[in-house]
Amino acid sequence: MSMTHSADKKSPIAELRGVTKTYVTGSGHELKVLDLIDVAVHEGELLALLGQSGSGKSTILRCLTGLVEPTSGQALHKGKHLHGINADASIVFQTFALYPWLTVEQNVAVGLMSRQMSRADKEQAVNRAIEIIGLGNYHAAYPRELSGGMRQRVGIARALVSRPRMLCLDEAFSALDVLTAENLRQELLSLWRTPGSDLSAIFMVTHNIEEAVEMATRIVVLFPRPGRVGLVLENPLPYPRDTKSAEFQRMVSIIHECITTTTMPDVPPEAPVPGQPISRARSRMESIPLVPVGQILGLLSLLHDSPELSNIYDISDEIGREFGDTIALVKAAEILEFIDTPKDQVCFTDLGRRFVAADPAGRKAIFAEQVFKLRLFHIILALLREYEEVEADRIIKDIASALPYDNPEKIFQTMIAWGRYAGLMDFNAKTGLVFVPEGDESADATA
Ligand code: ADP
Ligand code: MG
Repeated sequence: MSMTHSADKKSPIAELRGVTKTYVTGSGHELKVLDLIDVAVHEGELLALLGQSGSGKSTILRCLTGLVEPTSGQALHKGKHLHGINADASIVFQTFALYPWLTVEQNVAVGLMSRQMSRADKEQAVNRAIEIIGLGNYHAAYPRELSGGMRQRVGIARALVSRPRMLCLDEAFSALDVLTAENLRQELLSLWRTPGSDLSAIFMVTHNIEEAVEMATRIVVLFPRPGRVGLVLENPLPYPRDTKSAEFQRMVSIIHECITTTTMPDVPPEAPVPGQPISRARSRMESIPLVPVGQILGLLSLLHDSPELSNIYDISDEIGREFGDTIALVKAAEILEFIDTPKDQVCFTDLGRRFVAADPAGRKAIFAEQVFKLRLFHIILALLREYEEVEADRIIKDIASALPYDNPEKIFQTMIAWGRYAGLMDFNAKTGLVFVPEGDESADATA
């Protein structure tokens, strides 16, 4: 053992090399979620993995810890092929995942279920974890008696009770209110920084940029569809970190900009055709963000009512949504050509102004016209022109081949929602058929 010790120190606690992961979706389509991922969690570091929703963060965490197997490539533990679960890792999930019929103490003890330990040792370990995480007076309480913050503490205590070298957090703070989350973040940081504690590394999955910059020694930004390692940033800022400092804000804006420019490049993805107006919507088969129409309308009226809101960060703050959610919403409004996004600025287009000023029928007509321009919708509209009713399965299959890195069912649902609002299509979930709504000529008229 002692001979391998120094080698163990150098090899990462968990590592993925060239990992690709493909899922088969509900309708039987292969969806490549991760593409050639190289990532390693080293002793002593706090690594944050940042990326928008659906980019594959949880899948990376599951591969790293051995919960799922990569489709190709390798998962390693201290330089050796990982078999089963990584014995050094414990995971805290976003949703508290506590057993409602067990007390705090019993819920924490679940973390030792697979261990061969005497009853007395188990009890001691549970008590220690409960103390560490500040649940001292709650041993016998049931989850329903606890606040969200306290429940997440139980989740953390359960992860710590086995004395892991590596703690993995999957958006562990995102369901908590701001103050509770900040408090827990600080406590975990000080636990990780305590010299001589078993806990050596933290691997943290988040879509909160400030959270990553506040905590991590290294930040990996994941690009979506398929998930790829984009930016890797060392974060040398000393602890405790001053979130107001210029250095902190600079790092936040580097990451903001990196995500913004990859999600919404300023130059259209293809060169414009001479003599035709530049239209991002027309230029290629582009995916659509999975956002409901109501939220797009909400964003537009917010921009209308508060003209001082001119960039994505301010809008994020104003609507109280994560940056990642906001950027999806802004992107939806942009591909519909209601707004424009030079750099991180957001401004109305003329069309957007007209849309907001229009009455409901006028809005519907403009929306329909914009949806018509999206090549993705031609998949459905062309079929509807030919047949009265079209099976959803057939459409989903076409979406899957047009957009291999998106979940075709989710894209389908969003398209139906947009198409419904525009009066272009409707869907009967019972029959599984998409059809042109009765008494609505707009689809025929434009066809
Ligand atoms: P994130 O954690 O960044 O939100 P995930 O890793 O959970 O992303 O998911 C990435 C993509 O993989 C999503 O499109 C999701 O729908 C898909 N996905 C995740 N798990 C499965 C699964 N078990 N079967 C099919 N698709 C999945
Ligand atoms: Mg996730």
